[in-house]
Amino acid sequence: MAMKDGKRVYTFGNGQAEGRADMRNELGGKGANLAEMNLIGVPVPPGFTITTDVCNEYYEIGHDKVVALIKDEVERSLKHIENLTNQKFGDAENPLLLSVRSGARASMPGMMDTILNLGLNDTVVEGLAKKTGNPRFAYDAYRRFVQMYGDVVMELKPASKEEIDPFEEIIEKVKEEKGVNTDNELETEDLKKLVKLFKDAILERTGKQFPDDPIEQLWGAICAVFDSWMNERAILYRKMEGIPQEWGTAVTVMAMVFGNMGETSATGVCFSRNAATGENVFNGEWLVNAQGEDVVAGIRTPQQITLAGSRHWADLQGISEEERATKYPSMEEAMPDMYKELDALQTKLEEHYRDMQDMEFTVQEGKLWFLQTRNGKRTGAAMVKIAMDLLREGNIDEKTAIKRCEPLKLDELLHPVFNKETLNQAKELTRGLPASPGAACGQIVFFADDAEKWHHDGHKVILVRLETSPEDLAGMAEAEGILTARGGMTSHAAVVARGMGKCCVSGAGAVNVDYKKRIIEIDGQILKEGEYISLNGTNGHVYKGEIPTQAAELSDDFAALMDLCSKYTHLQVRTNADTPHDAEVASRFGAVGIGLCRTEHMFFDNEKIIAMREMILAEDAEGRERALAKLLPYQKEDFKGLFRAMNGYPVNVRLLDPPLHEFVPHDTLGQQTMADQMGVSVETIKQRVESLSEHNPMLGHRGCRLGNTFPEITAMQTRAILMAACELKKEGFDPHPEIMVPLVGNVHEFENQERVIRAEAAKVFAEQGLEITFKVGTMIEIPRAALTADKIATHAEYFSFGTNDLTQMTFGYSRDDIASFLPVYLEKKILKVDPFQVLDQKGVGQLINMAVEKGRSVRPELKCGICGEHGGEPSSVKFCHKAGLNYVSCSPFRVPIARLAAAQAAVEE
Ligand code: ADP
Ligand code: MG
Ligand code: MG
Repeated sequence: MAMKDGKRVYTFGNGQAEGRADMRNELGGKGANLAEMNLIGVPVPPGFTITTDVCNEYYEIGHDKVVALIKDEVERSLKHIENLTNQKFGDAENPLLLSVRSGARASMPGMMDTILNLGLNDTVVEGLAKKTGNPRFAYDAYRRFVQMYGDVVMELKPASKEEIDPFEEIIEKVKEEKGVNTDNELETEDLKKLVKLFKDAILERTGKQFPDDPIEQLWGAICAVFDSWMNERAILYRKMEGIPQEWGTAVTVMAMVFGNMGETSATGVCFSRNAATGENVFNGEWLVNAQGEDVVAGIRTPQQITLAGSRHWADLQGISEEERATKYPSMEEAMPDMYKELDALQTKLEEHYRDMQDMEFTVQEGKLWFLQTRNGKRTGAAMVKIAMDLLREGNIDEKTAIKRCEPLKLDELLHPVFNKETLNQAKELTRGLPASPGAACGQIVFFADDAEKWHHDGHKVILVRLETSPEDLAGMAEAEGILTARGGMTSHAAVVARGMGKCCVSGAGAVNVDYKKRIIEIDGQILKEGEYISLNGTNGHVYKGEIPTQAAELSDDFAALMDLCSKYTHLQVRTNADTPHDAEVASRFGAVGIGLCRTEHMFFDNEKIIAMREMILAEDAEGRERALAKLLPYQKEDFKGLFRAMNGYPVNVRLLDPPLHEFVPHDTLGQQTMADQMGVSVETIKQRVESLSEHNPMLGHRGCRLGNTFPEITAMQTRAILMAACELKKEGFDPHPEIMVPLVGNVHEFENQERVIRAEAAKVFAEQGLEITFKVGTMIEIPRAALTADKIATHAEYFSFGTNDLTQMTFGYSRDDIASFLPVYLEKKILKVDPFQVLDQKGVGQLINMAVEKGRSVRPELKCGICGEHGGEPSSVKFCHKAGLNYVSCSPFRVPIARLAAAQAAVEE
C-alpha cells in the first residue's frame, strides 16, 4: 500500500469540526458522529479522531513508523483541545485528562478497547485534587485509569479463565480489609492504596513499570486501540457480522468529562425509541456519581431515566412506589433540568439522523455532555415499526423506509419465538447450523413414523436424526422441529424445514445419535427418547428441557411495509410449494404464483408410495402404465388443491425429478413390508433396489432422463395436471398451469419431452372438450443448458434457474457432502460464503446472465425465474433483479424477505 498524503487527524470541539457524519469510513461511526454533533450544536467535549487508514498503516509499517507519521498532527490536535478547555495535558496545576476510544465503520459495541482518565500520575493527581477540591474524585479517576491502562495497554490479564480479574481481586481485598461492601464506600486513602497495589501488580506480573509520562501514556493507548482491532473477540465479531478486516478502526482522543464528581454528576445510556418493540418512547438508564461503563457493567443497579420507565421497571421488580422513589428515582425526578435538556437533545438527534438513536451522555456538576450517538440496533419487529412510524411522521420517504429494513430480519417476525425471560434459565446443550428459523420444543423421537404416531397421540415432538431423507417427510411435517447431526444448510432436513416454515437445527456435530438404544449423547450427557429438548433455529442453539414459545403476530406495520414493497418492485415473488397449505401460507405473504412444485413429495403418502413402487417394479411399459394409472387420480387431486390455492396465478409443476431408488426402502424390514404389499419375494425387491443403485445418483438416472426413458411417467403427470386444470375451469376457477422439464442439458432432451406433453395435452383437451392455455418450459440447472440456451429457448417457453443444481454442477461440489470441507474453506477464505446459500454471482451468475441473454435472443418474451434456495436470499434476489429475471421463487416463509429485497433492488437503482 502506498502511503497516502494528506490528513490523518480530524479535530472537533466548540461547535466546529473537520469531520462530518458521512465520513464514517475515515473516522469510524463514533468519530464521524462526534464531529456531526458538534456541527449541529449538541454539547460534546473537544477532541480529535485519527483515521481508519492509519490503522491499516499501523499493520503495514508497524508501530514506530506510524507514530512518526502522525506525531505532528497529533501534537497539534492536542494543542487544539488544550486551547478549547483552557487546560494542559500533563500539567501539575490545571491538568487536562483524556479518553482514548476505538470506533469502526460499523458499530462493534464493546469489542475493542477504551481508556478513560488518561494523563494522570502521582503529581498530576494531586493537582487535580487541589483544583477540584475533591481528592476522592481525583483518586477514583486515577485508580480507574491505572486499572484500564493496566488491563488494555500493559495487558495484565487473569492468569487463567478460572481466575477473576486481578484488579477486581485487589479491590475485593481492600474492601474486605476495610469491612465495606461497595466501591463507593472506599475513601481517598483507600483509593490511593489501590493505585499503588495496581502498579505493583502490573510490575510484578508483566515486568513493566507503569508509565508516568502522560505523552507516553497517550501513545501507548492509541496503539493499544489499533491492537484491539485484532483481538480475538473483535475478529470473531467481524466474522459473524461480515465486517471486512481492511476497514480498520479509528481512534478518537477527547477531553474527559466526569460523571463521578458527586451528587450533581451522572452518566447514562439512552434510546430515542424502544429497541425491542420499536415503540416511540424515550428510554434509558443512568447512575449518579458514576463513570463510563458503570451503567452497563452491572456493579451498581442502574436506574431508569424517565419516570414512566422507572415505574414500569419497579413494577417488574416488585418494588413499591415508595421504595422506588427514594432508592431508585428516575433522572426525570432527580435531575429535572438535566432531564429536560437530555430529552430535547435526544429528540434533536433523532430528527437530525432520522432514525432511532442510541446515545451515551455524562453530566458533570450540572452540565450535560454527549459522548456518543449512533443508529440503534433493534429487533426485527422494532425495525419494521420504527421505519413505518418514521414514514408516517414524515421524517423519511417511502424509499428510505424500504431501505431501512433488513430483509433477513423479517424472519424474526414470522416464526414462533422463545419467551426471552425463560430462555435465560435454559441449559444449552450444543449448537448446530441455524437451518430454519424459529423456536421449537418437544419430546425427542428418532423415527419419522414415531413422530407421526406420537403427534397423533397428542405429543409435541422433535425429530432427531443423523440426517433426514424424503421418506421422513410426513414425520417431519408432524414434528415441532428437526435436529440433525449431519448435513448443512442445504441438506434435505434444512431445505424441507424451511419450506415448511419449521424450525430446524442441522449439522449439530456434537450430537451422537444411537438409533438402536434410542438415545443421543452430547458431551457425555445422555438424553433418551421422550425427553424434552428445545431448538432455536434462528441461531442454531439446542437446549435441554422445554422452553415456552410464543407465536409471532404479524403487525399492521408489517402489512404496510409489504404493500410499500409492491409499489416499487419489478421482480415478482412466487413460492416453492408442494401442498395447498404451503401455497396458502405463501399467498398470505403475498406470493403471486408457484415457481416450483416438486411432484415427488406427493408420492410418499401411504397408498401413493405403493403405486409408485409398483411402477418401479414393473418389467415393461405396460406394467408401468397400469401402476401409473393408479397414481393419476391422486396426482390430479393434488394439483387441483394447488391450482385452487393459487387461483388466477401461474403454478409451475416440475415433472418427476429424483432418481427412482429414493422411492424404495433400503433396510430389510422395509423391503419385507414392500414385498408383502406387492406380493413378491424379498429377493425380487432386493435385486430391484440393487439394480437401481448408482455411483453418482445426482448425476445419474434422474430428471428428464427418467421421462425420456419412461415417457409414460411424463404422460401421466401431464394428464393429471391438465385434467385438474380442466375440471377446475369448469367449476369457475382460473388455473394457469406451467409444465417444467427438469435437468435438461441438451435441446433434444427437451424436444422429446415436449412432444410427449403436447400429445397428451391434445388428448386431454379432446376428452374434456375444453382447452387450457399452458406453458411448457425447462429448468436451467446444468451448465450446458445455460451454454446452449438459445437452442433450448427455440422450444422452451420459459426458463427457471434451478440454482441448487446449477451451483452444484458449476462448482462440482456435491451439496449433500459439502459439510466436510466447507467450514475449512470458509476458515481459509477460499470461499467467502456458502455458494448454496448466497448465489455465486461471478460464476453461476455469469451462466444465468448468459442464458437469459441467449434465450431472449431467440424468444424475446421468454419468461425467466429462479427457484433455487437463492430465491429467498437478499443479495441473490438483488442479483436476479439486475439480471432482468421476471420472478424469484422461494419457500413460503421467505416470501416477505424476497419481496423486501426485490423492492430494495428497485429503489436502489
Ligand atoms: P464502546 O465503544 O465500547 O461503547 P466507548 O468509547 O463508547 O466504548 O467508551 C465507553 C464509555 O466510556 C462511554 O460509554 C462513556 O460513558 C465513557 N467515556 C468515553 N469517553 C469519555 C469522555 N471523554 N468523558 C467521559 N466519559 C467518557
Ligand atoms: Mg460507547
Ligand atoms: Mg434440480
